[in-house]
Amino acid sequence: QLTKYFPQLGGITGKKVLNEVKAVDGVSFTVNRGETLGIVGESGCGKSTMGRTILKLLQPTSGEIIFEGNNITNLSQKDMMKYRKEMQIIFQDPFASLNPRMKIYQIIEEPLINFGVKDKEQRKQRVYEVAEQVGLTKAQLHRLPHEFSGGQRQRIGIARALISKPKFIIADEPVSALDVSIQSQVLNLMRDLQKEYDLTYLFISHDLSVVKHFCDRIGVMYLGKMVELTDKHSLYNKALHPYAQSLLSSLPKSHPDEKKERIVLTGDVPSPSNPPSGCTFHPRCFACMEVCKSKEPTFIEVENGHYTSCHLYHSVDQNINSVEKESV
Ligand code: SF4
Ligand code: MG
Repeated sequence: QLTKYFPQLGGITGKKVLNEVKAVDGVSFTVNRGETLGIVGESGCGKSTMGRTILKLLQPTSGEIIFEGNNITNLSQKDMMKYRKEMQIIFQDPFASLNPRMKIYQIIEEPLINFGVKDKEQRKQRVYEVAEQVGLTKAQLHRLPHEFSGGQRQRIGIARALISKPKFIIADEPVSALDVSIQSQVLNLMRDLQKEYDLTYLFISHDLSVVKHFCDRIGVMYLGKMVELTDKHSLYNKALHPYAQSLLSSLPKSHPDEKKERIVLTGDVPSPSNPPSGCTFHPRCFACMEVCKSKEPTFIEVENGHYTSCHLYHSVDQNINSVEKESV
């Protein structure tokens, strides 16, 4: 149940906590080795904060982060070093994330220095190797970031993330800043590298059509909570949560004769510092019932591997029980 609250400071000294922004509010899930788990939701739903908290770039308020069986939640920066090599991040905006005064070679090499690889020749071999894998030439390595296009800069960001041979990569909107034609090149590259390095991805995106093609399982977030989690086929064919249904209804039809009604959400996304009572989606939900206003739904498994938090559904166990009762 990972949680990240940001205190909103106020008062004369600025030290009194007036309120808390529940950016990530009790999210719990597992990313399986070798898979690509997509996390979707509107901007401000806590996806990026969650990603940064999993990597401990932000310290969680409560909850646990387990990496390959090791609880890394309370490790010091020093003890985290061992895991940093194995857990990397690719950011949305390649330009903002690259130091404008550093040559590409230095940018890609830097993590190796931080991880204590002292042999300069060894670092050089590795930089060349990874540059080639992402499609950068040796000549390009001696240029500065501003000399590259958005797609090329994202290749540089990917090279830097890969240099330490990580196992797990969080990609936070890695193609959102790119033209559609470039997006698929970068995604194809990421997929090739996944095979090459046996990578596990947590792929954060607001774009449902991108995650549809790239991910194996998908989690939908709303106001800091995971509201649905399942494999992509069940999400796109039978989303359970009304919020997920409305997000999906805005996608273009896959065939012209597909029956699909667009569900238009009313109301704005409420502030995470003052979320609605009960189900936080209730003021915007087309299926809202009386119970939804006061009682928060729990995140349950409705069908095998298909989770949601919504009062419209019962857990698998309960379903089995009720079927048994009926047959008695
Ligand atoms: Fe809608 Fe109620 Fe389900 Fe929330 S719990 S999504 S308000 S039906
Ligand atoms: Mg974000």
